[in-house]
Amino acid sequence: MQKVDPIARAKLLTMNILITNDDGVHAEGLIFLKAELDKIGRVFVVAPDRPRSACGHSITLHKPLRAEKVALRDGSVGYASNGTPSDCVSLGLLGMIEEPIDVVVSGINHGPNLGWDLTYSGTVSAAMEAAIMGVRAFAISVTSYAPRLDYGPAARFAAALAQMLAEHDMPESTLLNVNVPDLPPSQIKGVVVTRQGKRRYSGQLEKRTDPMGRDYYWLGGDQPTDSLEEGTDVYAISEGWVSVTPVHLDLTAYSSIDEVRSWGIQGIRVE
Ligand code: MN
Repeated sequence: MQKVDPIARAKLLTMNILITNDDGVHAEGLIFLKAELDKIGRVFVVAPDRPRSACGHSITLHKPLRAEKVALRDGSVGYASNGTPSDCVSLGLLGMIEEPIDVVVSGINHGPNLGWDLTYSGTVSAAMEAAIMGVRAFAISVTSYAPRLDYGPAARFAAALAQMLAEHDMPESTLLNVNVPDLPPSQIKGVVVTRQGKRRYSGQLEKRTDPMGRDYYWLGGDQPTDSLEEGTDVYAISEGWVSVTPVHLDLTAYSSIDEVRSWGIQGIRVE
């Protein structure tokens, strides 16, 4: 981590950071992240009480949203919520945490959030929720499902990035999606700013029969196929770089507006 002079350090320590994730409040990645962020600011944890991976941007509207104080693995106190990662951000930013939050960090996720993963990702959605509320935010993931991961490089990178965000405004309606390869620090080539790539899951549907004779389905598939175009997140990771993708909340396909207009949609009579 970069050295900062004492005055800058005092300023940084006034920074309030909210952490959430989608792997659950007791996940290892969250604790590694907190240990590094504790060095640069006041850290508050509000995270799901259980794993909620791939829950996307869902929110809880039709049942009570709860948040219980729990002892984290480092002995400090955080909040465990029955809600989704996005709910946790809302809880943290809308008043349950009484301090104003400067930066929201979501992660460190156990597994990649690359390409089209973003639309499924609870980790990224939590950062989106913060961006919607106008708070600087990033999601961070280590791109491996190996049972034992070294979260150290990702955690240290997160602290350096959070420090940077103390001094730079995030562009409007934008969040950052960070992926860190699961490599020893000496083998990580560096950091690149990327665009969102493409990764296709084969999307298999397996039909099975339960013991009662009823059909059920199992949604799965093999390893995703990455389209290794230069400049994308999937490419950067495959080459051993840390990937930082600025993600915009505006999902409009601007380049398609004229084409879709040209179909004559406006002429459909609405009766
Ligand atoms: Mn996850």
